[in-house]
Amino acid sequence: MLSDDKKIRDVVIVGGGPAGLTAGMYSARARMDAILLESFSVMGQATMTDLIENYPGVERSTGFDLVAGFKKQAESFGLQTSQHTVTGVSAMTEQGKRIFEVRTETGEFRALSVIVATGASPKKLEVRGEKDLLGKGVSYCATCDGPFFKGKEVVVVGGGDTAVEEALYLTRFADKVTIIHRRDRLRSVGILQERAASSDKIDFAWDSVVEEIEGKDLVSGVALRNVKTGDISHIACGGVFVFVGWNPNTGFLGDLVALEKGGSIKVDRAMGSSLEGLFACGDCTSKVLHQVVTAAGDGATAAFSSQKYVEEIKGMAYGQIEV
Ligand code: NAP
Repeated sequence: MLSDDKKIRDVVIVGGGPAGLTAGMYSARARMDAILLESFSVMGQATMTDLIENYPGVERSTGFDLVAGFKKQAESFGLQTSQHTVTGVSAMTEQGKRIFEVRTETGEFRALSVIVATGASPKKLEVRGEKDLLGKGVSYCATCDGPFFKGKEVVVVGGGDTAVEEALYLTRFADKVTIIHRRDRLRSVGILQERAASSDKIDFAWDSVVEEIEGKDLVSGVALRNVKTGDISHIACGGVFVFVGWNPNTGFLGDLVALEKGGSIKVDRAMGSSLEGLFACGDCTSKVLHQVVTAAGDGATAAFSSQKYVEEIKGMAYGQIEV
């Protein structure tokens, strides 16, 4: 397909998680000519979460249902969404105006502004066995794979909110869940720590890192190294769930905008990047708090800023706005 067409839209939004869909809803309500491109092969962090109970006004929801609600609401205001994996973005000048070209595997879209909301992907442990045993006991998504571990023993690696939340979810299926953490105390929020401590199915391996994931055709266990003593120990298990943080999905931008050391997009208060006209929001940006509620807030701000930017350009181009 050659892009939809050669038309120049007001904004192309890249990413269909809470940040992108909120940006999409605000853009649609502002009657911007907007399209949201979402990748069908990438599951966002929120979608992979079984229980979300800190999104104000929604007492409890699965991540999947919450994000589906975001999408339904955005589309109800007329947002056009389409499944495309974006491979690159470039900026060029045509008749004095900056035009963005958003390339996908099958064509390209052109727009006066771009909102990047591509989220982040799970970090890997980078240990022996991890790659070979992926899908054979190694997983980065408890909601997707948890039910396969009914009656088994599993380990969860990490000490943040994701690790503890997913460990709690896994107790529905597994007989025993051992949280392996490299320090002697969890990083996660207090309420999750309390729940994990009171679960009779959850155990902890403190001050420990995974040296190797063992198994031939399927995971059979993990080798651990105690970071204080150097001692090596083993835990027999059928599953290894890795939740050690996230890498922002920004590689497709190349050096188009300024990135932080870890790859997240540097943004200002208006969600503007270092390149005028390109805005970013959610987990692909550098931010203090990674939550659905902050992603949604970022998305609203990015849409507002992109709208102001586009209006200004059109005003300059067509002389319609008098300042
Ligand atoms: P995170 O907060 O960055 O925690 C990553 C955990 O993995 C940390 O405990 C870290 O150890 C450990 N770790 C990192 N690299 C490691 C390695 N190579 N080997 C072993 N352990 C390693 O990531 P997250 O838990 O995925 O959370 C990401 C963000 O999403 C956070 O802002 C979190 O609050 C948010 N979130 C919120 C909710 C919620 O509100 N319910 C749910 C999920 C996530 P150290 O502690 O020693 O650094």
